[in-house]
Amino acid sequence: MTSHSAIRLPVHRGPAAWSAILPDDRGPVALDGDLAIDVAIVGAGFAGLSAARRLLENDPATRIAVLDASRLAEGASGRNSGFMIDLPHDLSSDDYAGKGLAADRRITALNRMAIAFARTNVEEYGINPAFFDPAGKINGAAGIAGHHRNLSYASHLAALGEPGEMLDAKAMHEVTGSRHYVSGLYTPGTVMLQPAGYIRSLGEGLRHAGVHVLECTPVQRLERTGATWELTTPNGKVTAANVILANNGHLESFGFKRKRLMHVFLYASMTEELDSQTIARLGGHPRWGVTPSDPMGTTMRRIDTAQGGNRIVTRTCASYLPGMLPSEAALARAARIHRRKFADRFPTLADVPMQYSWAGHLCLSWNGVAVMQELETGLYSACCDNGLGTVRSTLTGIGAADLLSGRNSEIAAHFLAEGEPARLAPSPFDSIGANLFLRWKEWQARRE
Ligand SMILES: Cc1cc2nc3c(=O)[nH]c(=O)nc-3n(C[C@H](O)[C@H](O)[C@H](O)COP(=O)(O)OP(=O)(O)OC[C@H]3O[C@@H](n4cnc5c(N)ncnc54)[C@H](O)[C@@H]3O)c2cc1C
Repeated sequence: MTSHSAIRLPVHRGPAAWSAILPDDRGPVALDGDLAIDVAIVGAGFAGLSAARRLLENDPATRIAVLDASRLAEGASGRNSGFMIDLPHDLSSDDYAGKGLAADRRITALNRMAIAFARTNVEEYGINPAFFDPAGKINGAAGIAGHHRNLSYASHLAALGEPGEMLDAKAMHEVTGSRHYVSGLYTPGTVMLQPAGYIRSLGEGLRHAGVHVLECTPVQRLERTGATWELTTPNGKVTAANVILANNGHLESFGFKRKRLMHVFLYASMTEELDSQTIARLGGHPRWGVTPSDPMGTTMRRIDTAQGGNRIVTRTCASYLPGMLPSEAALARAARIHRRKFADRFPTLADVPMQYSWAGHLCLSWNGVAVMQELETGLYSACCDNGLGTVRSTLTGIGAADLLSGRNSEIAAHFLAEGEPARLAPSPFDSIGANLFLRWKEWQARRE
């Protein structure tokens, strides 16, 4: 017999705004009594839902349950900025260029497989196209240093044979209504998600396909007896021959990969719905997404009625929290910074209130690898998003499902070849060092 207990469960700081702005919340569907199935998946984010979908593709007769501690889209999968990026987007670099041309071509091909997989989900489950908008994105530069970073990234893309279009300050103003940007680099392959809309609809589509998608059902303990895993939850027990842990950083809460996973929280704020006068004052297009030319800068996004209202989303600030618990004070600090960044970009809208501010959990490894493997007999993982889970966790979910099904898969092979996440510096040096480093990088990127 082998067992693993969760020493902590997810705690979400701030509301899941992307979900709160959508209509039609019909209330949670939780586990109600014991259940016996073939595969139990822990976590209903990009990784867990993609794993369920792929298992069905591999064998439609598989009996599957996905269990989440919270509501669908309450976790990071519904708390992100919604950029499903096809190109290399290396957050540890100065300008997103990755680890060389061959590696970047490979990552781009994999990212596009994730996007194609999500597009099939959208088509087959009838997901609202406003939740999956293949509009591309802009890397915005607010100063000369940012502009040079964009030029450097553009030449890297040209070497990869990828298209990109430089926009001048006037074009950036026409798109965003902001005079903050001196230039931008538009790339067409990013899909802009309404993340909660996509995740909730994917969960609903899986339910219609016969998958038990269970919310408010935290898995407290995993225990293997003979050939069966038993999952303990407050609402009943689930037994399954195989389990996929798709709970990202909370993999460590079950005791796996201790001292190898970095828990980073990102923060974002969303305005209240803009009224027609404010929209007229703002100008620009009704939908756009701007990532910063410096990876540690500020992401801005404008959404429209079909995506949950005319609003602007500001994302900046990060903290390294091995205890996985962002404080109210950290969220309040981030919210103040969001207000300032928003006002810098839209001085004529500086009085527009922020309706929501929130934090969300990323899981990184020092060497940038994911944890997609068979951890123990019949126990698989699709974890460690490295900050780009709309694509990366979609891929680890697919990979874990393929590994479990015995399907010969390029995606699974990619992650299996990555190796283990590197060991981290001992506490408290990891935490102090990482937070100092993040503050320093934020300061360097302050204009962007
Ligand atoms: C502010 C912000 C902006 C971001 N912007 C982007 C972006 O633009 N593009 C991008 O690609 N990425 C972005 N990200 C990152 C992205 O959100 C994550 O990479 C992604 O959500 C990871 O998906 P996942 O399925 O691996 O994990 P998660 O979304 O974290 O899902 C794991 C699930 O497991 C559940 N869980 C944990 N423990 C248990 C348990 N014991 N029992 C049951 N359930 C459990 C959790 O409730 C959670 O729902 C952003 C993140 C934040 C916070």
